[in-house]
Amino acid sequence: MQVSLEQIFNIPGSSREFNYSFTPEYSLSDDFCLTSPISFKGRVVNTAGIVTLDGQAEFTAAVMCSRCAEEFQKAFKVSVQHTLVFELNDEDNDEFILVENKELDLDALICEDTVLSLPFTFLCKEDCKGICSQCGKNLNEGACGCKKPIDPRMAALLDLLDD
Ligand SMILES: [Zn+2]
Ligand SMILES: [Zn+2]
Repeated sequence: MQVSLEQIFNIPGSSREFNYSFTPEYSLSDDFCLTSPISFKGRVVNTAGIVTLDGQAEFTAAVMCSRCAEEFQKAFKVSVQHTLVFELNDEDNDEFILVENKELDLDALICEDTVLSLPFTFLCKEDCKGICSQCGKNLNEGACGCKKPIDPRMAALLDLLDD
């Protein structure tokens, strides 16, 4: 969504609400695949000349568990908070989003925040048992019968106890 912020920048006290959804035209990440549009709810406010964007994006995506490699659906909530400026006085400043021509590409900004907020790993559940390192069975589906390799330090201790 292209948002003209001309009025917001010009009039302290003005604001605009957003409540819409969109589907990005490109894949956001190799690690996950959107299974819903991204819906965004938020607002832009000019408070005494400072323009801020504040909202939350929500979507679901298919991701792969980094422990058992099963694909599963996960719901995401991403907070989108920025101070918007239409010109920069200092050199580069990461704290501000420069809105050129007072036209904000809101979709692009939300996508950027989404990608930056993604964790490096996903778990299908907190206590995912993962895959047996010996036979490759998904241990969430039941035990596999392989003997657990004994920790060498533990083996030394057991030896001591035997004496
Ligand atoms: Zn898992
Ligand atoms: Zn096994």
